[in-house]
Amino acid sequence: MKASITLLPGDGIGPEVIAVGRDMLDTVAKQFGHEFTFREALIGGGAIDQVQNSLPPETIQACEEADAVLLGAVGGPKWDNPTAVDRPERGLLALRAHFKLFANLRPVKVFPMLTAGSPLRAELLQGVDILFIRELTGGAYFGEKHEQGDGDSAWDTMIYSVPEVKRVLEVAINAARGRRQHVTSVDKANVLASSRLWRRTVDALKVEHADIQIEHALVDSFAMQMIRTPGRYDVVVTENMFGDILTDESAVLAGSLGMLPSASLGEGTFGVYEPIHGSAPDIAGHGVANPCGTILSAAMLLRHSLKLNAEALALENAVAEALRKGARTGDIAAPGETPIGTALFASMVKAALNDRVKSVDE
Ligand code: NAD
Repeated sequence: MKASITLLPGDGIGPEVIAVGRDMLDTVAKQFGHEFTFREALIGGGAIDQVQNSLPPETIQACEEADAVLLGAVGGPKWDNPTAVDRPERGLLALRAHFKLFANLRPVKVFPMLTAGSPLRAELLQGVDILFIRELTGGAYFGEKHEQGDGDSAWDTMIYSVPEVKRVLEVAINAARGRRQHVTSVDKANVLASSRLWRRTVDALKVEHADIQIEHALVDSFAMQMIRTPGRYDVVVTENMFGDILTDESAVLAGSLGMLPSASLGEGTFGVYEPIHGSAPDIAGHGVANPCGTILSAAMLLRHSLKLNAEALALENAVAEALRKGARTGDIAAPGETPIGTALFASMVKAALNDRVKSVDE
């Protein structure tokens, strides 16, 4: 098939991991006889520096013309000026809003060969396979924000409507249907009005979807239970800010922020795919970033936007194979394991992909 993919490398380690993502997609295209065309565009801090706009109109157009977008990360200390009119993160939020990408899928799987490096006991991590679904275009991140003139107080509005909650819950319920038929809806209904509306909407939907087991959990206790008994969760759905925080916490289960991919989806097949980590300014330019989150995001792109399931699986298996052969970047290396850089890690994944083709040919 022919597909066009727009790459938004962004800032910090973004360009380093996106170069790997592109290489993997190219390799998959060659192996499976597809034709992918790539186009790069600006976003975030680099875009502010070059064209004074964190999401230039040319970038929106490049994304509109693509089947899918692979994004690195935005931000960094250089642009950390709270009084600036434009900030790198604004570019990202504006991109999500422009394409109405209301559902952010963040799968958290534990690769068994990484449990030795985890701060958690290996038996707790056995079989962990959680699909987080974070609402992405509502809540406090998108509510009206005001700040008083004298600068003594500030507030953010956390706002949700029933249709906004319903559409993301439906994504969660449909996803659970192809998994273990269990959904945990996380809120703070004992305090927040928006959470009570969220919970009422869940209860109304429960009636229509009796085949799926749906439970409620309060965000504070869920944050603890997720670490104590991660194996009991299947699909977890929650609002924007809770999802942001909980999925960073879930990185402890997977071994590192660098391991986790995400897909931001709207109504159609178009999506923006990105690792969940940020621009990691502390390691940017050193060639040591873990590219797994980006490679696995590229696999999600193949599966969700291009409907290339076998290709997605080949890429995921290649990551697992490289890990099995001992490939470890610094963030996932257990004591005694020798860490390798981004380029070597990527070449081991690529070798695993190529081995797959050889074994098919034999
Ligand atoms: P971060 O995710 O960039 O880094 C947190 C820690 O994890 C750092 O120690 C970093 O070195 C490590 N880390 C992250 N990704 C890694 C990888 N692939 N391989 C190895 N180690 C990795 O979070 P932060 O430090 O809080 O934020 C840095 C900047 O990124 C800030 O400007 C923030 O606003 C931005 N940010 C952007 C996004 C995004 O673009 N989606 C998300 C979160 C943070």
